[in-house]
Amino acid sequence: MTPDAATSDELLLRLRRFQSDYFPLHQQRFQDLVAQGQHPKTLFIGCSDSRLVPYLLTGAGPGELFLVRNVGAFIPPYDGKYGLHGTTAAIEYAVLTLHVERIIVCGHSHCGAVRAAYDGAPDEAIALRAWLELAQEALLPVVSSPEALRRSEQRVVVLQLERLMAYPMVRREVEAGRLTLHGWYYVIEDGEIHIFDIDHGNFVPASQASHSGSGPYQPYVEHDGQVISY
Ligand SMILES: [Zn+2]
Repeated sequence: MTPDAATSDELLLRLRRFQSDYFPLHQQRFQDLVAQGQHPKTLFIGCSDSRLVPYLLTGAGPGELFLVRNVGAFIPPYDGKYGLHGTTAAIEYAVLTLHVERIIVCGHSHCGAVRAAYDGAPDEAIALRAWLELAQEALLPVVSSPEALRRSEQRVVVLQLERLMAYPMVRREVEAGRLTLHGWYYVIEDGEIHIFDIDHGNFVPASQASHSGSGPYQPYVEHDGQVISY
């Protein structure tokens, strides 16, 4: 590629801009993180959706978030086996090696994963179709509607928290008071996180919430009395 052609490569220009403009402002921080290693206190498990930007939402900088993202922010049920579960491996690493102090599960409005869990995915997407099964327990016995989708997106977050509590190392650390679990639901169009409140069994906007989430979690009782449990 000639130099002229390179200047039309927007992604390449952004890489150069990172090193020339952003990096010098934070060089010491990055070098400290290399010298001392990373010690993030937070494992953030979020949907892969491009509109969910964890660093912007939390105001976090380099070294603060250990990130896992996947379609739907789903957590595979713990089965004590050795399957190729990237998300499970990351949870084990974050809890057992990094000793994170909190785990955030962050879903969001207009989630394509939840919609696809209702409406289906292409036949060729074999892995995706299997993955979406992880949302089934949180779906409502209705056709998808904006209200049903929103409720389901929130129920999915709670279901993942309950699955997390089935991970032995997570349960152990939560019960020892060394780890808290945070269920978040990001409303993209409002720019606001809604936080799952274990005491009241509902999601509270961050502007009105008294905390960013806590654990351990008991089964989530819906207002209609339905209990989601794993
Ligand atoms: Zn999503």
